[in-house]
Amino acid sequence: MGYASTRSLALTGLTAHIVDIEADAAPGDSELHLVGLPELSVWPARARIRAAILNSGTAWPDARITASVTPMIPPVYDAAADLALAVALLAAAGVIPPERIAGRVFLGELALDGQIRPIRGVLPMVAAAVRAGLSRVVVPAECAREAAQVPGAVVMPVTRLADVIDQLRHGAIRDHHDQEPESALSSSFAVDLADVPGNQAARHTLEVCAAGGHHLLLSGDGPATMLAERLPGILPPLDHDAAREVAEIRSLAGQSDRAPVVTPPLSAPHHTATAAAIFGSVAGNRPGAVSLAHHGVLHLADAPEFARTVLDGLCRPMDSGQVHLAGLGRSVHYPARFTLVVDARPCPCLEQRECACTPEVRRRYRARLALLLSRVAVRAPVEQEDRAAGTGEPSATVAARVLAARVRAAHRLAETPWRTNAEIPAPDLTTRFSVAPEAAELLWSAVTAGLVTADGMPRLLRVAWTLADLRGADRPQLDDAAGALELWKGADGDGAR
Ligand SMILES: [Zn+2]
Repeated sequence: MGYASTRSLALTGLTAHIVDIEADAAPGDSELHLVGLPELSVWPARARIRAAILNSGTAWPDARITASVTPMIPPVYDAAADLALAVALLAAAGVIPPERIAGRVFLGELALDGQIRPIRGVLPMVAAAVRAGLSRVVVPAECAREAAQVPGAVVMPVTRLADVIDQLRHGAIRDHHDQEPESALSSSFAVDLADVPGNQAARHTLEVCAAGGHHLLLSGDGPATMLAERLPGILPPLDHDAAREVAEIRSLAGQSDRAPVVTPPLSAPHHTATAAAIFGSVAGNRPGAVSLAHHGVLHLADAPEFARTVLDGLCRPMDSGQVHLAGLGRSVHYPARFTLVVDARPCPCLEQRECACTPEVRRRYRARLALLLSRVAVRAPVEQEDRAAGTGEPSATVAARVLAARVRAAHRLAETPWRTNAEIPAPDLTTRFSVAPEAAELLWSAVTAGLVTADGMPRLLRVAWTLADLRGADRPQLDDAAGALELWKGADGDGAR
């Protein structure tokens, strides 16, 4: 009879913590007793581990096994600890030499037949293990490539519990030696702005939104999705920290990448998506579409078709840059700072040519977006493809101007917590930064004339700064203010309010 210990990891939101797994074998009832966790959360684990061990050709130990998994925050068993628990109890029972599992981290959920299932969130978990000095990690083979992206990690991929037991009994688990070279970092994107015919106004608004981080409304029945898909390609590539955050969120969502991410993400949920799919779920610790858009673009096609709770609920992440979820006695935060692109047709029917919708129906349809549009500063019409219009500039040309404008803004904002014009809080827009007097005068006259509400003023000022940045000017002049007003209204004037 004996004692053994090893390590695993558990996640709360994107934060991983080390979990100590201990097992003790003593004469007794041949049962696995998991102490310290609610019974309801451990009985499926106990059944899984027993079946997996028996189906791996190993006899269940003739001993009373007491095991603990600490700390579990929240106190619910996480199936990622299955593999660690199985090897710890086998080591305590003398099947595996205990010294071979100490100092290692084991991650993986067990199937009843002894296969080791992939788990979500390997990237943040392995990163936390390496930071804690535990660089030797045993992971499900499907997750090995993802784990190997963490610098300093020594990854040992495994597929079956039987192999793990065999290798630990007879020596050490082999390290991961990837035969296939990592695909080179690529900032190329599959889609290009040059593919979008016509729509000069909408292209210009994409450039402004990319340069300043402003949210955008596209109206009409033109190729709005084509345009939205091309916004990530003109944004600056992700820096190191942003790329790591994006990769960790994708890992937690179970959408791991084969190579490091460099292009900002595009997240485009369908309008039938549930609130959990959009915002995430605390029960499964699963981030939603808004977090998959972090550091990138969230596109809502046919926005008025989304549930009202989703449309209104988006305002909180737009204001705070994160999602906070609570329930089941737990709470999690996921980052969610994105540029929003909403597109909306003028009415709920699909009969653009023989539309019989009354003005009241149209008004009510658009009114669903009211709260969301109170965060939008830039509007543009999208028109049906016009072949005569010819092709426009390629994404690379636009991206270069966007980058230059971003560098200019970042330089001005160097001593502040903000990086883009869209992030500057309203009070600071007037106290820290000043526009040319004629520009201010024009914007205030628009407020006085009722073209813009007073709370729209900060959004206009932010866009005016972005237009100045794109021109390479030190501060917004009259033309920039006029340009911001044009973008505010949209060419069909539907933004005037
Ligand atoms: Zn209609």
